Amino acid sequence: MRISRRTLFIGAGAGALTMLLASCTPDSPPVPDPTKTRQPTVTPTPVGEVPAPKSFFRTSWAEDPFARGALSITPAGSTSTERQALAAALMDRVFFAGEATSVERPGTIAGAVRSGERVAGEIADVAEDGERIAIVGAGAAGASAAARLIDAGFDVTVIEARDYAGGRLATQRDDDWPVPPQRGAWLLGADDTEVASRMALLGVGSVAVTDPVGFTTDGETENPSGDALKTAIAEARDGLADRTILEALEDAGVEQSPELAAVLSSLSAMTGVDPATASSWFAPALPGGSFDALVSDVAPFVDSVLGDLEVTLSTVVSHVSYDDSGVSLRLASGESLTFDRVALTVPLGVLQAGGIEFEPPLPFAHRGAISTLEMGHLESVWLRYETPFWSTDAGIWHIVGPVAPTPTPTPTPSPGEEPAPDTTIRTWINLLPATGEPILVGLVGGAAARVIAELGDDDVFTLAATSLAPFTEPAPSE
Ligand SMILES: Cc1cc2nc3c(=O)[nH]c(=O)nc-3n(C[C@H](O)[C@H](O)[C@H](O)COP(=O)(O)OP(=O)(O)OC[C@H]3O[C@@H](n4cnc5c(N)ncnc54)[C@H](O)[C@@H]3O)c2cc1C
Repeated sequence: MRISRRTLFIGAGAGALTMLLASCTPDSPPVPDPTKTRQPTVTPTPVGEVPAPKSFFRTSWAEDPFARGALSITPAGSTSTERQALAAALMDRVFFAGEATSVERPGTIAGAVRSGERVAGEIADVAEDGERIAIVGAGAAGASAAARLIDAGFDVTVIEARDYAGGRLATQRDDDWPVPPQRGAWLLGADDTEVASRMALLGVGSVAVTDPVGFTTDGETENPSGDALKTAIAEARDGLADRTILEALEDAGVEQSPELAAVLSSLSAMTGVDPATASSWFAPALPGGSFDALVSDVAPFVDSVLGDLEVTLSTVVSHVSYDDSGVSLRLASGESLTFDRVALTVPLGVLQAGGIEFEPPLPFAHRGAISTLEMGHLESVWLRYETPFWSTDAGIWHIVGPVAPTPTPTPTPSPGEEPAPDTTIRTWINLLPATGEPILVGLVGGAAARVIAELGDDDVFTLAATSLAPFTEPAPSE
C-alpha cells in the first residue's frame, strides 16, 4: 500500500513519528520538486528514407534530479575501497546502501538488492526492539532493506522522492505502446540470471533478444569482434597501474577502426562506461550476444518486496542531521522528522550533486568516495512503427562506420577543444522478431549519452532516425 505525504503527517501527529519544528534555513540547497515523469513532445516525421514512427519515447537519466545519471562506474585509479568507504555507517545511526555501495555487483539490480540486505543486517545488529527506522529511497535497495527490517520487527518508514516506487527500475505506462518502453534496467545478461528468474516468477514478461550483427552503409555484415578489446583489457589487468580502457587499447597497440568504434559504443551503451575514463582493472564484462529483454511492467519486482508497507511518495529529503542519539531528516517542504536510525539508498549522482546536506558534514572517506566514483550515462530512444522498414531478423544491430548523411547536431569544437563525442546511435535492439511488434530501441552510453541527454526531443528524434539510415531497404533496381 502507498500513502501520500499528507497521510504521513496525519500519522505522525498521532504519535507514529516525532515531528520537529518545521524550519527552512536560508542556506538550504536548491531542492528539485518531485515532478511526474516528463513526456517527450515531438511529432515524428520521415527523415531521409526512414519513415515516421507512430510513437517516440526517450529517456534522460542525466537530467533526472533523483538519479543524475544511470549507474555508478569505477574510473581508472579507483578501487573497491571507495565503495566500501561509501557503505560505512555514521555513528551506527546513518547507514548507506544502493548499487554504488556494492563491491561485487555495482551498477546492477542484484548489487542494489544485496546492498539493501546488507544494510538491514547492519541496522538489525545495533538497533533495539521497536526502534523507528527510515529508509530514504524506494528503489531495489530501499525495498529490500525495508522488507528485511519489517520482518525483524522494526517500525519502518520508506520515504521516496518520486511519485512511484522502483527508482531506476521503471516502465513507462502508455497505452500507445504494445510493448511498454523501459526507462531503466530491462536487458538482462548472463550475470543477471537471479534477477531474471525472480522477474519471471513475478510474471514480468521477457523475450530473448539474440543474433547480433553489424551494419554498414552497404548493408548487413559480421558482428564486430570484441577480441582485441578483451585482450587489451586482460593485458592491462596485469599492469602496475590502472589504465583507462582507451589507454589499455593504446598500450596493446590496437589500431582505431570502425569495428573497434562499434564495439566501444556497444560497451558504453550496455554498461554506461566512458572508455576514456573507465578503469581497465574494473572494466565491465563485454556485452554478450543475447539478452533477456523485459517486455512488461517491471513494477512487481519492487512492489512485491514492499508488500503492504506504506511508502511515502513525492517526498524529497534534503538534510540529514545526526548524532549518537538519533537522526533528523529535513524534507524539501521544510518539515523535519526524527528517527532512531536511517538508511540512505539514494543514487551516487544525488550525493555528488549535493542533493542532500549532512550535519555534521560527511567524513572525508565518504566525501572522497563520492567525488572519486563516477556516474555512468545510459540513454535510450524507443521508436514504434506501423510496419517495419527493415528486413533483417537480427535482434541486435551494431552500426559500423559512418552513417550517411552525418547525424546532426554535433557542435563544432572551438580551436584546441576536444571534439564532441560521436552521437550516432550505434546499438539498436530490434524487438520485431521476438515480440512481433515493429519497435526499435536505440541505446547510447558514456560521453555520447551525456550529450544526447542535453538535447531537445526534436534533435534526439532526428539523431535516432538519421542513425537508422543503414537499415532502410535499398531502392529497387530499375
Ligand atoms: C538505463 C538503465 C539500464 C540499466 N540496465 C541494467 C541491467 O540491464 N541490469 C542491471 O542489473 N541493472 C541495470 N541498471 C542499473 C539498475 O537499474 C540499478 O543499479 C538499480 O535499479 C539501482 O537501485 P537502487 O535502489 O540502488 O537505486 P534507485 O533505483 O535509484 O533507488 C534510489 C531511490 O532514491 C530516491 N531518491 C533520490 N533522491 C532522493 C531524495 N533526496 N529524497 C528521497 N528519495 C530520493 C530515488 O527517486 C530512487 O527511487 C540500469 C540502469 C539504467 C538507468
